[in-house]
Amino acid sequence: MSNSSAFDYKLIRSARRTLSVSVSPDNVITVRSPYSVPQAEIIRFLNAKKGWIEANLNKNSLLRNVFGEVMSGRTIFVCGREVCLCVDKAGIEGIFNGSVRVHDIKNLKKVYVSALGDQFLKMAESIASRCGMRAAAWGFRSYRSRWGCCDGENRITFNYKILMLPERLQTYIIVHELCHTRRRDHSPAFNGLVLSVLPQKSVLERELKDYSFLARMY
Ligand SMILES: [Zn+2]
Repeated sequence: MSNSSAFDYKLIRSARRTLSVSVSPDNVITVRSPYSVPQAEIIRFLNAKKGWIEANLNKNSLLRNVFGEVMSGRTIFVCGREVCLCVDKAGIEGIFNGSVRVHDIKNLKKVYVSALGDQFLKMAESIASRCGMRAAAWGFRSYRSRWGCCDGENRITFNYKILMLPERLQTYIIVHELCHTRRRDHSPAFNGLVLSVLPQKSVLERELKDYSFLARMY
């Protein structure tokens, strides 16, 4: 049995009861541990989780190969298409054929919503009427950990970064939020409802996870 971990990791001790490990998108491994657990047990725990940790590290490296330019801020997605991102105080702001131009990164929401918001909401309306569901109102906000939200009054708000995603993922999020007008939870009944509209639900969900870094960016 090895007495050292195969990985560098950050250790956070607290008054919790169990050991846990997480891998962040930039491949930082964090172990959360109760105060009393000895180092040797933490290493045993990490070695037992080796396969899971390696799978996550590999997945993140793969994503960085595919999305590296976007993650670095040199490029940006417009409906799934990768174009240059120019942040420059001078010139016109907007979404052009080969680039997104903004004076300040804080202006991305305004630029995306004014260029693509109406067209996107038309698509949302047409999906809603096709499914026989209805939102009381639509809107955009900037969220860091979600793509959309449906409140108790059936007002649906999207993360404006949805406008960066390919259309098939936009459709998935629209359907997901619309189904919340029928069911507020993520119960099997809710999942069944989404599936009845989108049989390819699980493929789309997996793909959407790859794009979750976008919500934390900008
Ligand atoms: Zn939901």
